[in-house]
Amino acid sequence: MTKSRISLDFDLAKPGKHAGYARLPYSVNRSAYGWLPIPVVSIKNGVGKTVLLLSGTHGDEYEGQVTLTRLALQLQAEDIQGHLIILPMANYPAAKVGHRVSPIDEGNLNRLYPGNPSGSPSERIAHFIETELMSRADFVFDLHSGGASLNYLPATTSVASTGSSAEAERRALMSTFGAPYGLLFSSAPGSGSSSEAAARNGIPRLGTELGGRGWVHPAYREICESGVLRVLALLGVTKSEGLPPPPEVRFLSVDKDCFVYAPENGLFEASAMLGDEVRVGDLAGYVYFPESPLRVPEAVHFLASGVVVCERAVAMCERGDCLLHLGKVI
Ligand SMILES: [Zn+2]
Repeated sequence: MTKSRISLDFDLAKPGKHAGYARLPYSVNRSAYGWLPIPVVSIKNGVGKTVLLLSGTHGDEYEGQVTLTRLALQLQAEDIQGHLIILPMANYPAAKVGHRVSPIDEGNLNRLYPGNPSGSPSERIAHFIETELMSRADFVFDLHSGGASLNYLPATTSVASTGSSAEAERRALMSTFGAPYGLLFSSAPGSGSSSEAAARNGIPRLGTELGGRGWVHPAYREICESGVLRVLALLGVTKSEGLPPPPEVRFLSVDKDCFVYAPENGLFEASAMLGDEVRVGDLAGYVYFPESPLRVPEAVHFLASGVVVCERAVAMCERGDCLLHLGKVI
């Protein structure tokens, strides 16, 4: 297997708390021998589990980036047993400019695993994370939110495998995290996600979708931070003292028919709000056409019954944009 060309400027094996950069060689007009600096924090003490914490997989999702920046600052080596490896801006070029995908190669990091050591910068980052970091980890967090275009109710996410012991374990982790909703996504193999990368490495992975619309909701950030700390305590890496107990989690499944898409280009006004329970066929909203003022607005309907867990954060839509999505009550 070809080794990653991304190198860390400090030794991950070193005990204590260290911050530095994973250096991604990037030779361009303005910098012939330059590298892209992906921030990495390592906090290591004693013997225990190794946990990889990722945010900024999508650069416009800020709740996780703020949570991991706070934890990197607050947690000291003596607070932990084991090893935390924190990447607050996993796809650094995207996170630097606040875009979902990388501005230098259009790479969507959560579609690119297992990556490619000789590929585009985003492919190289995916390869580095999977082969150099996940390979030494016992557990991985990948913290997401709705980003600039969506807004989510606070939720943990995982992959559905109904009735399996793996799903029971995932649900137990989601209950410990304690976000109000637990979304179990049906997924097709070959999605290139961090879930698949974690599965290839034989380690559990827990994700989130917490808020969005291009800002940081302080209550959601708090849910994220206490959730991560509760799971770290469950793994024996931190102590659980002082942490509030997790609130009850409502589990929902997410399938293809949970998604409502724009049928036309226009302006969308939703008829259902986050948290509403809707039935199949209910009105989801209207797309308006101010450019053709006498055109009748187009009604959009739900294709399934469930709870509205995600909404588009901007009114302007193009055919094919996700407007709302549901979670089905399990
Ligand atoms: Zn995301």
